[in-house]
Amino acid sequence: MLGWWRNRKRQKLLSTPRAPLWDEVLATLPFAGGLTDGERSHLIDLGRVIAEEKRWEACGGLELTEEMPITIALQASLLILSIDHEYFRTVESVFIYPSTYMRPGHMRPPEDQLQAILGEAWLGGPTVLAWDAVRSGAYHPHDGRNLVLHEFAHKLDMLDGLLDGTPPLDRREDYARWRTVLTREFAALEVAVGRGRKTVIDRYGATNPAEFFAVATETFFEQSQKLKRDHPELYETLAGYYRQDPEARPRMKSHFG
Ligand SMILES: [Zn+2]
Repeated sequence: MLGWWRNRKRQKLLSTPRAPLWDEVLATLPFAGGLTDGERSHLIDLGRVIAEEKRWEACGGLELTEEMPITIALQASLLILSIDHEYFRTVESVFIYPSTYMRPGHMRPPEDQLQAILGEAWLGGPTVLAWDAVRSGAYHPHDGRNLVLHEFAHKLDMLDGLLDGTPPLDRREDYARWRTVLTREFAALEVAVGRGRKTVIDRYGATNPAEFFAVATETFFEQSQKLKRDHPELYETLAGYYRQDPEARPRMKSHFG
């Protein structure tokens, strides 16, 4: 009954013309330039439902603009563009902070700092994003860092109730392969970090398997060529999960160099 009602509301929403701002924001997002027309229009539909159904709150003196949910929802939708999904069922609210202090040389998602500040539970808590990091992630599509992809990958991971680096997968053999490949890649990253060696996967991924999946997701979408070259099995495993092949897409330039 609830599902029926929700579907009807979603159909109604998508049958009404969208605000022009959706297309305007999409046009500024470099990653979208690599998508087909069909993918772009699907991305907008997904984003509209997400923007409509989640609670958006600007915090820390920030004023919520119309552009904010759109910018975030469009990026998050890239993750679920080709998979079965429930519009990020585990996300109820998104809190947006203006900014967060990042230590020089430690350019990781500000989630640690924000989660610590807010003292909130990992599972079931709101998704917390810093608006400056959302924007820089959106406009630099090939630097391997994207806060929205990172945080929403955690939300996919959590769909089975566990934040353990393994989202729900289709088949039993998918789990076996996932475990084999991601365990090995995680261990290899730990070794590389221990030896001070740089890899295409950011060192923050060596924190734990959940961070590894979130960071590998950022790398998969933003540095797909290097990931495929240096970690082909990890690339294929993620391509199988997301049912996307970002490496085959045309490379889009950042608007900001
Ligand atoms: Zn994380």
